[in-house]
Amino acid sequence: MNHLCPVCNGLAGLYAGCPDCGRSMEDAGRLYDYYGDYSPYMPIDESKLSNGLPDRQQHLCVHVAWCPSCRREQRLAIPEWTAADLQTGLFS
Ligand SMILES: [Zn+2]
Ligand SMILES: [Zn+2]
Repeated sequence: MNHLCPVCNGLAGLYAGCPDCGRSMEDAGRLYDYYGDYSPYMPIDESKLSNGLPDRQQHLCVHVAWCPSCRREQRLAIPEWTAADLQTGLFS
């Protein structure tokens, strides 16, 4: 069964309110991409193991949400969709 992240694939937005100001936060990208910018020497698989966050084994895609007004970041685990979810999402 394929799983895919609706946010990475442009099927859904990242809906998160900033804990400080309540404004909607923007998707700053997948956490692993984000780490890629700051930890260029750490292989991606290793960062998955060491960050203590849910990973693809649980079919969660971890994104970084960003509040432009507070300049605050928050991690969000997006449940990945299966083919069945995809149909529900498209036809409901
Ligand atoms: Zn994603
Ligand atoms: Zn904010």
